[in-house]
This record gives sequence, C-alpha cells and structure tokens, in this order.
Amino acid sequence: MIYADNAATTKMSKAAMDAVCACMKDCWGNPSSLYEHGQKAKEALEDARERMAACLGCSAREITFTSGGSEADNQAILTAAYLGARKGKKHIISTAFEHHAVLHVLEKLEKEGFEVTLLDVHQDGIVSAKQVEEALREDTCLVTVMYANNEIGTIQPITEIGEVCRRHNVLFHTDAVQAVGHLPISFKDQNIDMLSLSAHKFHGPKGIGALVARKGIRLESLINGGAQERGKRAGTENLPAIVGMAAALEEACRNLEENASRMTRLRNRLIEGLDEIPYGELNGSRETRLPGNVNFCFEGIEGESLLLLLDDKGICASSGSACTSGSLDPSHVLLAIGRPHEVAHGSLRLSISEETTPEEIETMILSVKEVVTYLRNMSPFWRDLVTGKRQHVFQQ
Ligand SMILES: *Cc1c(COP(=O)(O)O)cnc(C)c1O
Repeated sequence: MIYADNAATTKMSKAAMDAVCACMKDCWGNPSSLYEHGQKAKEALEDARERMAACLGCSAREITFTSGGSEADNQAILTAAYLGARKGKKHIISTAFEHHAVLHVLEKLEKEGFEVTLLDVHQDGIVSAKQVEEALREDTCLVTVMYANNEIGTIQPITEIGEVCRRHNVLFHTDAVQAVGHLPISFKDQNIDMLSLSAHKFHGPKGIGALVARKGIRLESLINGGAQERGKRAGTENLPAIVGMAAALEEACRNLEENASRMTRLRNRLIEGLDEIPYGELNGSRETRLPGNVNFCFEGIEGESLLLLLDDKGICASSGSACTSGSLDPSHVLLAIGRPHEVAHGSLRLSISEETTPEEIETMILSVKEVVTYLRNMSPFWRDLVTGKRQHVFQQ
C-alpha cells in the first residue's frame, strides 16, 4: 500500500505513540487534583506546553489546548468577532479558499450581522498582503488567512500579511494546520496574533490541537465549565494526546529541514512525471508550496473514478479535501484559483510524507498515467475533446 494522503491525516510516529502509551500507563491522574498523582499529571501537561512553545516560537502561556484544528479556528474567529463587535467593528477579511472550519464559522457570523470579505485567490494559489491591505476598513476586526492550503499546498505570505494587520491595528489569525511541523514557523517573529494547529497533520494523535494566542488577547471560551486552560477551555485535559502531540511536534521540528529538502526532491520528481500526461496541469505555484503536496487537474476525468482505480492499485490519494468528498460539488479551492467546473472535477491530490520512497514515487507516476489513459479511453466527454466537438481548457 502506498499512502499518499498525508494532507488528510498522517500515521502516528513511534515517538508520539510511545509518549501516549507511557502517559496512559504512568500518568493517568487528573491534572486538577491536588494529591501527588494529579500533580504529576499537571507537570506533564505544563512540560508538554513548554516543549511545544519552544518549537513554535511563543511562550507557554500563549498556548491553549483544543480538540483539534477545527475547534482552534472556531475559537480564534469567534474571539476576534466578539471583541470587535463590542467596539462596533463587524467586518472580517478572509480568503475564498480557506478550510471549511473557517468558512463555515464566517457564514454563521454573517447571519449574526457581520460582514465578510473573501479575497480572490490568484491563479497560482496565493493571496497577497497588498490585497489584504486594500480590503481593510475602519470597522475591520479580524483578518484570517491560512498559512498553507490543504488542497493545493500553496504557502501564503503570512509575515507580510501580519505586518499589514499590525500596522493597521487589526487582529490577524492564521490556520496553520497544514504548516506546523512542515514549515519553519516563529509565532513571535511573524506578526501573528492567533494560530491554529492540529496534531494529526504532523504524526501526532487525532482529536488534539492548540490555539496559540498572543498575550493580552482574551479568548472567548467555547466550552464552559471547569477552570482548565485558564478558564478558556473547560473539560479535563486529554493528557495522553497532549503529550503525544508534543512528542510529534518536537520530532517534526528537529528534522524539519532534512525532511523538507528530501520531500521537496520527491515532490518535484512526482510533478515532473505527472507533467508528461497531456491536457493536465499542476494546481498552484510550483515553488511556493508545501514540500509534500502535489495536486493536478486532468481534463476528461472524474476525480472519483481516478481515486477508485488508484485504490485498486494500492494507492491512497484524494480528490479535493476529505470534507468535500462524498459531495458532487467541485472543490471550492480549485474554483477559487479559477479552474472551470469541468476541469475541477478531474483533480487529484497526492500528499507524501517523510516515509515516502523514490520507488513509490515512480509507481505513482506510472499508475496515474495508466489510470488517466484508461478512463479517457472510455469517456464520451474525452471523445468530444478529441474529435473537436468540445474545446480543450489546457494546452497539451
Ligand atoms: C485538517 C485541517 C483542519 C481541521 O483540523 P482537525 O484537527 O481535523 O479539526 C483545519 N484546517 C486545515 C487547513 C486543515 O488541513
């Protein structure tokens, strides 16, 4: 089996699994309890927070543990929205290709009377700081732009966008779920006010993540109850998952450069191989993308059929995001970068990891070529393109 869907989730690392198991066995107390067993758990919790802070370039106090990236996105956006509303500021800027954990919160806020500007994305999959600056208004209370896109892997100019926001005194949140553990990040040096992350995207456990929020930002609590996480997130802490996340992040950050350069080489070879398929195109910038992300559109193909046939060949891939699969709408990300509907339907995302081998890359190239040819040969849509009844979107 070749696993090439690491943007959807990653396999837990041995370091993370060992940390989870050791914690479950030896450190099962409640961190809020005063007796020794609880205090040992409390120490493990704060130790995990400090180790994560060291990897992220923030202080430990700035980290609030959440159930994952979605919860962190919700908490960040609702915090900024409610803070803004108290000052009569109810305008939010974001982009058309955010994750649904951001877009759906914004839709909810629109129903509550907020105004949302979704910036267009350039066809290379990048939003500029200048676009953000031009969209700013007197009543803007939040800018939220993802660090790296989960479908096409393109990396946004976060430091520059943060600089614009700081100059205009507007809160800046970034959904960095695809970036943490894969790209070098410094919370304090990149003008970021709030940052979301999720462990299962960097070989940690599922159901755990964090919201990093600059000192001084009073987070809105979504889960109310006990005083855990300084009263910003009630509920007994998921300690095994938290220590597993810290172990996974430390390992990812320790090996970040080495992994990135190795994966970038493999990614480029995969792109080069798939580039040979006629009437197909890479989605998003060739250079400014995550080391592990490859995403193509092929004319005359249904993404779903492509995935099923690749699955038969033992290759796990994705078309669009996991959240959109199961629906027949084309990906909002591909539409945002200007792909026409009929092309957006024929998309394929292969997201590799540090464990992917050069042999697997060659197998993927051959298999995708075979499957695309096979599907086109039986597609009436493709026949129309070949006979000239329909115009090609891409050059050969
Ligand atoms: C996976 C993902 C999320 C959601 O994170 P969960 O921990 O699964 O809730 C949010 N944003 C992006 C960009 C993601 O890739």
